[in-house]
Amino acid sequence: MHDPASVRQHLEALREAIREHQYKYYVENRPEISDAEYDALFRELLALEAAHPELVTPDSPTQRVGGEPATGFAPVEHLVPMLSLDNATSAEELREFDARLQRLLPGEPLTYVVEPKVDGLGVALLYERGVLVRGATRGDGRVGEDVTQNLRAIKSVPLRLRGPLAELARLEVRGEVYMPREAFVALNRQLEEEGQPPFANPRNAAAGSLRLLDPRLSARRPLDIFLYALSYAEPALPYTCHWDALQGLAAAGFKINPRRQRCATIEEVIAYCQALEAQRQALEYDADGVVVKVDRFALQQRLGATTHHPRWAIAFKFAAQQAVSRIKAIHISVGRTGALTPTAELEPVAIGGVTVSRASLHNEDEVRRKDVRVGDSVLVERAGDVIPQVVRVLLERRPVGTPPFVMPAHCPACGAAVYRPPGEVVVRCPNAACPAQLRERLLHYGSRRAMDIDGLGAAVVEQLVARGLVRDFADLYALDVPTLCTLERFATKSASNLVAAIARSRERGLARLLYALGIRHVGERVAALLARHYRTLDALMQAAAEELAQLPDIGPVIADSVSQFFAREENRRTLERLRAAGVRMEETAAAPAAGPLAGKVFVLTGTLPHLTRSQAQALITAAGGRVASAVSRKTDYVVAGADPGSKYQEALRLGIPILDEAALQRLLRGEA
Ligand SMILES: [Zn+2]
Repeated sequence: MHDPASVRQHLEALREAIREHQYKYYVENRPEISDAEYDALFRELLALEAAHPELVTPDSPTQRVGGEPATGFAPVEHLVPMLSLDNATSAEELREFDARLQRLLPGEPLTYVVEPKVDGLGVALLYERGVLVRGATRGDGRVGEDVTQNLRAIKSVPLRLRGPLAELARLEVRGEVYMPREAFVALNRQLEEEGQPPFANPRNAAAGSLRLLDPRLSARRPLDIFLYALSYAEPALPYTCHWDALQGLAAAGFKINPRRQRCATIEEVIAYCQALEAQRQALEYDADGVVVKVDRFALQQRLGATTHHPRWAIAFKFAAQQAVSRIKAIHISVGRTGALTPTAELEPVAIGGVTVSRASLHNEDEVRRKDVRVGDSVLVERAGDVIPQVVRVLLERRPVGTPPFVMPAHCPACGAAVYRPPGEVVVRCPNAACPAQLRERLLHYGSRRAMDIDGLGAAVVEQLVARGLVRDFADLYALDVPTLCTLERFATKSASNLVAAIARSRERGLARLLYALGIRHVGERVAALLARHYRTLDALMQAAAEELAQLPDIGPVIADSVSQFFAREENRRTLERLRAAGVRMEETAAAPAAGPLAGKVFVLTGTLPHLTRSQAQALITAAGGRVASAVSRKTDYVVAGADPGSKYQEALRLGIPILDEAALQRLLRGEA
């Protein structure tokens, strides 16, 4: 494949295949191939592009993340101003909105399109001849910031469009970049583990991540986007209504909110708003309302805009998930890594149907920045599933003489002098034997995603630590029914259940054990990565920090943390005792198949000259391959004998390599 035309052709085919898989994965959420297969395609493309740098195009999937850190974001003037929407907060105001439009457009039947108002960051994407050329934040509505590099890194942003919209000279679409709630919670957990300040809500996390100057960092943040409008097209908008435009955007490869709906009357709109508000906690993203738009573009044009808002759209706002309460106390809790976390105890207040009595204050800097004091009246917000946050202090209500909050100099659990490592926002208790840390470590060890010990709750752990029955993880495995029966609220049955649950936890495997140990910076993802790579604890413990740092996604900070953990005498002792207690220290998940056909998928059709169907199947399986019953894009080879059936035709159609028996034999011998 040395002549340039065929290289170019192959490159384009690879890119197209990868785009297709990205779309299936990130937009439709329906991957057709495994991550490993996808990686293999992507690596092939990278290698080919490295060999032919002159053929790299900006719309190649490899160009999502390649940009160097920016020093700032250039201003971008929007083609069409991004106006904000007028608000309605009740069904009555929606009816008034409808009545106003009826007056402005007498005799015109009005149809509306509604969709959730995702709480994120508005952006405008510009495509020229189907290729993404620019992405900008909303900014002040007229001028935004050029965040093209970071938007490219969002996998559901198509770098190249498909279908008729790809033909347009210029196309501007608008969307909302957001961070799914689950990803937000995970990101905050990771930030806190790394000693960095967490985000208050998914919207801030999305905005902060999209505006990171280093696109490589931005790319690691789990951002997503819903496109909600086709705002500009050259030579002309190819649709007459918003609904069709949304369908067109979907067909071009954009991610469109699946909860969008067309409503024939304002009463339908109201019903939609009420139903969505009732379900808002169940959405996978934060939504603060519903956007209501007049469907027909001709009518939108006739209605026009005021200086601030288009007249043809309105945002129905959900009831605020905020309330005012008073801070009764600020408690300091000690986490499993010794981090001291301040938490506000509030006078109970109802927010969105839930009674809230505490709010996170995150860390010393946060408390100081917001200047939160005991006795203050504060605005509290509940966002998604995270613990409520203090938004701000109502200073005008502060009682005279309220002293500022001071972080304690000693650990509230063990009395050790605390310290704050330079560059970190977290204050820590340095005492390895601190009972509060031990309690938290044990709770983490037994948590569902770690060793999953049912019944090892806070009340039990508290007593086990207080009475000196458990000093490290290994002590758990020595607990017996008579000992547990001496604890409060324990009877023979609950005691034997817990003993059995602890015994079962021995079989969780290396990945979960590594996570359960609570090594700093080792979350579930890193634990799984280490377990997959090293397979056994012994192999991992022998790895030097430099070696660990070479692994993808590990880096020097995690590598140091892991090797320091294993270097410590008390940790080695605990691990030896865990081993003696029968805790499995190898990875239990199956190793990737080895052999010349590892990971390859075969389909058999027709009669082979020498091998029976089951012999061929056995040979393929023994060599690490897999035999499937039907041909699809996932098929690597079709083995065809005499009188092949429709599978042969299908293989031809999809361009899948077809082997005869001799070619299969060569492949089995590793010759091909
Ligand atoms: Zn302590």
